Formats: sequence, C-alpha cells, structure tokens
Amino acid sequence: MKIFNTLSKTKQDFVPLEENKVRMYVCGPTVYNFIHIGNARPMIVFDTVRRYFEYKGYDVNFVSNFTDVDDKIIGRAIEEGITADEVSKRFIEECRKDMEGMNIKPATTHPLATEEIDGMIEMISTLIDKGYAYEKNGTVYYRTRKFADYGKLSHKNLDDLRSGERSLLVTGEDEKEDPLDFVLWKPKKEGEPFWVSPWSEGRPGWHIECSVMSKRYLGEQIDIHAGGEDLVFPHHENEIAQSEAANGKEFSRYWMHNAFLNIDNHKMSKSLGNFRTVREISRQYDLQVLRFFMLSAHYRSPLNFSADLMEASKSGLARIVNAADHLKFLMGNAAEDAMSGAEKEKFEKTKDFVLSFERAMEDDFNTADAVAAVFELVKYINTNTDEKSGKEYLKALLERLVMLTDVLGLIVDKGEDILDGEIEKLIEERQAARKAKDFARADAIRDELLAKGIILKDTREGVQWKRA
Ligand code: AMP
Ligand code: ZN
Repeated sequence: MKIFNTLSKTKQDFVPLEENKVRMYVCGPTVYNFIHIGNARPMIVFDTVRRYFEYKGYDVNFVSNFTDVDDKIIGRAIEEGITADEVSKRFIEECRKDMEGMNIKPATTHPLATEEIDGMIEMISTLIDKGYAYEKNGTVYYRTRKFADYGKLSHKNLDDLRSGERSLLVTGEDEKEDPLDFVLWKPKKEGEPFWVSPWSEGRPGWHIECSVMSKRYLGEQIDIHAGGEDLVFPHHENEIAQSEAANGKEFSRYWMHNAFLNIDNHKMSKSLGNFRTVREISRQYDLQVLRFFMLSAHYRSPLNFSADLMEASKSGLARIVNAADHLKFLMGNAAEDAMSGAEKEKFEKTKDFVLSFERAMEDDFNTADAVAAVFELVKYINTNTDEKSGKEYLKALLERLVMLTDVLGLIVDKGEDILDGEIEKLIEERQAARKAKDFARADAIRDELLAKGIILKDTREGVQWKRA
C-alpha cells in the first residue's frame, strides 16, 4: 500500500510499526460552532482510510480529539452569556450527530483537551528540563531554534521563517527570546477558564494538546498523523518539535494532509458569505450524498463544492443504491437455487472489479478510481441478472457490492429497521440451528439478516455482526 507522505513529499510503501496494527491520529475540530463542509472533508477522507485498513485486516487504533478550549470558544461563550464548557459540550454533541449522518465511525478514543491538562503540564515540564522551553512572566515558550529538525515537515528553513518573523510576533509576546518561539502555556485573562500550573493559572497552547493526546492514547511513536493541509505549518511542525524533543523519538512515520474544499471556486469564508455547515446541507440532501461527493475526488486534490456537483453526486449514489435494490427485489422472488456453473463463472468475473477497487485504494487511497470500480460492478450487476437468476448468485453479488461500498462508508443497503436485540436473538437461533446441523435454517437466518442490512462474520471468538 502506498501513502503520500508530506514528510518526504513522495509516495511511500506503508510499513506499520507493529504488524497488522495501525496507530492513527487525526486532528479534530475546534468546537465553537456547527462543523462546516470543509471540516467534513478530513473526517470523511480519514474515516475511509481507516475503513480500508480494517478491510485489509489491520487493527486500527484511531484517535481524534475535540479542541474544547480556545479563544473562539471563549468568545462565543461571552457573546451568549454562558460558560465555555457549555459551548463546547453543545457543539461536540452537534458534531457527533453530523458525523453519524455522514456515517463516520466514532474514533477508538475522542479525547477532550480540557481533560488532558495534567499530561500537558507534564510534557511542558519535560521540555523545560531538557532546555527546549522557558518561562517568562507566567508564559511558557518553545525554543524553536534548539530543535535542529524544525521545518522538516513543511520544508521551510529557519531563514525563510525569519524573514516573515514580524508577522509572527503578536503583541504581548515581545518577551520571547526569539520571534520563532511559540506558546506552550499562557496565563489566563480575566474571566477565562484556567488550570493551575507551576508557571501560572492559565491554559495550554493549541499545539501541545495533540502531542500529549497522541502520546497518551497511541504511544510515543505512531504510524499516521493526519489533518487538513492548513495544519502542516505551524500546527504539525510544532507538534513534531514538541513530541520529538520530549520523547527523543521520531513522532509519526507518515503524515497525510487533505487539500481544501472550496465553494463555487472560492475559498470558504464567513466574510464572503459562502460558509456552509454540514447541518444546512443535511436539510437538502441525505449526508450520504455529501460523503459520496467528497470521495469522488482524490483527497490531495482541491475540491470544488457546487450545486451541480451535488446533484451529480446524488444521481451517482442513486445508481449504486438502485443496483442493490434491484438485487434485493430479484432475491425476493428467486428460487432457492445454488449457483449454477454459468452463474459461478459470472460471479468469478466480478473479482476484477474488486481488484481494481483495491488497486485504486492501495495507490494513496485514490477513492475517485475506487468509485469508478464500484460503478463498473454496478453496470455488471445490472446487465448480468434477471428473474431467472438464482438466489445464491444474487446474494453473492449483493454481498460483494456491500463489501466495497462499506469501505467507502456508503450505505447502499439500508435494510429494514431491526433492533439490536432482535439481531442477537436471530444469531442465537442460527447458532442453535448449526449445532443441530440444520444448515438450511442457519443459512436462511443469515439471508434474512442480510436482507435487513446486517452482515454476519464468523470468528474464532464467536459471531460478530455489523450494519452495512
Ligand atoms: P479547525 O476546526 O479549523 O481546526 O479544522 C478542523 C479540520 O478541518 C482540520 O483538519 C482542518 O485542516 C480542516 N479544514 C478546515 N477547513 C477546511 C476546508 N475548507 N477544506 C478542507 N479541510 C478543512
Ligand atoms: Zn492537532
């Protein structure tokens, strides 16, 4: 599998730190508002990356934070006359709803910055002890020039940065030893949330959050660190400086960055009035359409959002869903036949589409080509099935289609509503039937569940199920 690594600026073979395991950290949103469709891009892209690793049999430890202490959150709290905590709690909830709508799996852990302050104080202390940080009047700064590799991710050198240093100097920070130094801890201002530290009552800088949360939940070294391309500098560059200086180890092996989403060929911004939240889009479209739209381009290409492209995505997705519906309709009336020789041969041919899907995903997650492979399969299904097709053949085709669309996080087979309890009951019944060697009944239960969009997986630990 090849991944474009921002660090080396090349596509590299993916070699995990530990066999069959992926440790991955994705910088999450600052929760002061509903998430916008630009924020949705990294969420969808890296959820798809995770799903593909899982499809390949990797065990993925996926960590994504919520930045729940920040100037913008405090600003909104003051505006509304509520606490910063109330603002962030509310928008974390809203963000989770949007994520569910886009079928983004919850992370293995979603740490909150405000619950990790102790770890941040500890890492800052280590950096001071090692000479990488210093305190001035209650503020702690990182001594950027001391970290010899500074600039290795953004491919900037310190001299380039020096020429832009004036803009880096913020009022009140003129006590810094060097304009390139950045804040690790800052004292509170009146009315702001604060924590007690050895340096002042205050709060951490933004960059230290991710270094600490990544270390706590994934260890000192991780496989992949990801986010939007605006985070390369300074956020990720600073994370590297902090983590590598504190831990004495390479931080992340691969750095992945998605390109930006624009609207009608303009940068999305509040001042241009073209700012769109995911929630707004959900009133017009099923969020699956937004997901499909995002995956129709390669994640490193800029993507333009427009009404026309959303309409095209809607009909594209409908084409796939229709193929699944068509199979289910035929299955409803089909004879209980096992696959005929001719059907076996036809089914065998669909392997080509799976292979081209995988080839696309292995090439730095080229979802645009992976979607094209799904369309090929859809076309094949539509032209190679009819009322005479046997049930086993139809079912195998549906499973194959669901297998691929599931990697993309697209729900093409919603099934009927079925409660978890009913599913468990049917699984128990199926186990009993198998024990009694009533395989016909066991298979019938499996089919019944599949028709409702429930996929069973027999593992050594027992039967696992998931909704397609
Ligand atoms: P923020 O809340 O601004 O820290 O952003 C959360 C994530 O969304 C980061 O990974 C950003 O890089 C990403 N992001 C923000 N705006 C856009 C955009 N217009 N297109 C793509 N990604 C974006
Ligand atoms: Zn981060």
